Amino acid sequence: MSSASTAIASTNIRNVAIIAHVDHGKTSLVDKLLFQSGDFRSGELEKLQGGQHGLIMDSNPLERERGITIFSKNCAVHYSPPGSGENYLINILDTPGHSDFGGEVERVLRMADGCLLLVDAFDGPMPQTRFVLTKALEFGLKPVIIINKCDRPGARPLEVHDEIFALFIELGAEDIALDFPVVYSSAREGWATTDIEKGERKNLQAVFDVIIQKVPAPKDDPTAPLQMLVCTLDYSDYVGRIGIGRVYSGSIKTGQQVCTIKRDGKREMSKVGKLYRFQGLGRQETDEVHAGDLCAVVGLNSVDISDTLCDPAFPSPLPPVTVDEPTITMVFRINDGPFGGTEGSSITSRQIRERLERELQTNVAMRIAPGRNGDEFAVSGRGLLHLGILLETMRREGFEITVGKPEVIIKLIDGVVCEPVELLVFDCPVSSVGSIMEMVSNRRGELKSMDSRSDTLTHLTFEIPSRGIIGLRGRVMTASGGEATMHHSFLRYAPAQGETPHRQNGVLVATDPGDVTGYACELASERGILFVTPGDKVYVGQIVGEHNRDNDLPFHITRPKQLTNFRVSAKEATVVLKGARRMSLEVALEYIEDDELVEITPKSIRLRKRILDENARKRSDRQAKDKAAAGVA
Ligand code: GDP
Repeated sequence: MSSASTAIASTNIRNVAIIAHVDHGKTSLVDKLLFQSGDFRSGELEKLQGGQHGLIMDSNPLERERGITIFSKNCAVHYSPPGSGENYLINILDTPGHSDFGGEVERVLRMADGCLLLVDAFDGPMPQTRFVLTKALEFGLKPVIIINKCDRPGARPLEVHDEIFALFIELGAEDIALDFPVVYSSAREGWATTDIEKGERKNLQAVFDVIIQKVPAPKDDPTAPLQMLVCTLDYSDYVGRIGIGRVYSGSIKTGQQVCTIKRDGKREMSKVGKLYRFQGLGRQETDEVHAGDLCAVVGLNSVDISDTLCDPAFPSPLPPVTVDEPTITMVFRINDGPFGGTEGSSITSRQIRERLERELQTNVAMRIAPGRNGDEFAVSGRGLLHLGILLETMRREGFEITVGKPEVIIKLIDGVVCEPVELLVFDCPVSSVGSIMEMVSNRRGELKSMDSRSDTLTHLTFEIPSRGIIGLRGRVMTASGGEATMHHSFLRYAPAQGETPHRQNGVLVATDPGDVTGYACELASERGILFVTPGDKVYVGQIVGEHNRDNDLPFHITRPKQLTNFRVSAKEATVVLKGARRMSLEVALEYIEDDELVEITPKSIRLRKRILDENARKRSDRQAKDKAAAGVA
C-alpha cells in the first residue's frame, strides 16, 4: 500500500465529490477504483468486503437496507498515470443520497474542487441527482460525467448523454451543458472509455485520467498562515469530537497551538492532539497536513461545524458553511404504554435525553427542544427520513420510544406564514397515472411535467407542500400495486396554502388486552385490513387495523369463540386469513394522525391511540369539538 505520510504537492491532489442516485453504481465504482489504483491488493479488499460486493462505502447496515448513503464517508486513492512518474492523491468525497441531508451535501461540496456525476445508462438522471447537482453548480464545481452500467441490456448511453445535456440547460448551466467531459463505464466489469462505440474496454484508467485532467488542483497556498475549515464532525467516546475538514492555507501540525474561530466570532486557543489524513478507506496518522488536503483533527478543546482553525498570529475566519434548518418536527417520548419496558433495555427519559444529546454532537441538522413535560422531547430534522433513521438506529441500540405525528415546521418570512415545498417525482405504470395525479392534486400538488419513459412507464413531476407528502407513499404504492417509484426533494419555503386532507380511513382499536385470536381476525377482516395476526399480544387502545370506513371502530380482537376448546382449535387451524399489513417505521410515521402514536421497540413497531381508554378518548374528542365550535362561534 502506498504510504500516506509522504507529503504530496497540492498540484497533485484532487478533491472530488461523487454524486449519484442510489443504485447507479457508486459503491461498485469506488470499489473498483481502489482496487485498480493498487491501494489494495485483492486479498485485502476481499477481507474487508467479507467476500461480498458493496461493503466499502456503504458500510452501515441501515444504509444497506435502504440503499442510500446516509453518513457520507471519505476515501483516498493514490494513482500514478502509466509512464508519467507522477503520483496523485485523489480524495473522493461521498455525498449523501437524499435531500434530507442537504446541509451535509453542501458541507461535503465545500471541501471539493470538482465533482463526478455518476448516472445509470438505463435510468438516466434522477431527482436526487438533480438536487445535489444544483448544489454543486452553486458551488462552482464543474461536473465530470460518468455514464455507468453501459454493459446493461437496454443501456442507452447516448440518449442518457442527451438527457444530462437537457438537465444542465434546465438548471440554467448552459456553459456546462455545451462542454462537459463524459466517460462511459461499467463499474461491474471494471472498464471505462471516452468512446462508447469504438473505445477499448480494459480498465478504469479513463476515469482516473478524467479526474486528473478535468478536476482542478487545489489553489490553496501552503506558504500562507494556517486556515482550516471544519466541514464535518465525528465523535468517539475516547477522544470526544473530531473535526474533519480541509486545510485552505498553510499547514497544520500535531502539537501545534491553533486559534479556533467559532461561527459567532468567538476565539479559543487549543492544541492539536492527533492529526489524520485519509488513506484508502480509513485514516492514517500523520504529523503535518498541507493546504489543499483534507484531514481529521483530534484533541481540540471544543470543535463545531464551521469553525476555522487558524494560526494564532493571523486569526482570520473562512466564510461559514451552511447548516440547513430543520423542516419537520416530531415528539419523542418514553414508552409509557402497557408493554413499556418489556422489549428494550434503554427506556428512561434520562437515557433518551442523553442519547439525543450525543446525536447532536455530529448530527448538525438536528435540533432538540424540551416537550410538554420531562418525558417528552421535540426533535426536529430535515425530513421524515432523517428522523426515521435516527429512530431506527436508536431502536437497534435497545431503545423503546413512542413518537407523535410528524409536523412540518412553519416559518414566518417577511410577515408571511410559509411552509416547505418539495419537488416530487414519480415513475409509474401508465395504468396508475390517473389515480396518482388525483391523489397528488388533492394534496395541493401541482403537475409540472409528464412524459413517457417507455411503453409502460410514465414520468411525472410535481411541486407539492411537504405536508402533502406525509402519508402519500403508502397510498401511491397501493394504487400502483407497488410498481411506482417516488422521490422528493426540498425546493423552497413558500406561502402556506389551505389544509391538507387527513387520512380517509378510521382505524380498528383493540378494546381488550390479550392474545389476538383467529376467530376475531376472521370477523375483523370484513371490517378492514389488519395490522396484527393471531397470537400477537395487544393492549387496550392499540391500533390493530385500518377500518373500511372513515370512523374509528373499537374492536374485540382478542375475542375467543364461544365453543369447546376442541372445536376452537380445529376451526382455528382451518381459518385462512389475509396477510396482515406490517408497516415499516417510516410508513407507520406517515400513517398516524394527531391523536395517535407509534411505539418503537427493538422488537416491534406498534400503532396506538394517544389516549388508550375508550371513554377517556371520547371525552377528549368531545371537548376538542366543543372547543372548536366555541372558537368558530
Ligand atoms: P450505489 O447505490 O450507487 O452505491 O450502487 P451499487 O454500486 O451498490 O450498485 C447497485 C447495483 O447495480 C448492484 O447490484 C451492482 O452490482 C449493480 N451495478 C453497479 N455497477 C454496474 C455496472 O456497471 N453494470 C451493471 N450491469 N450493474 C452494475
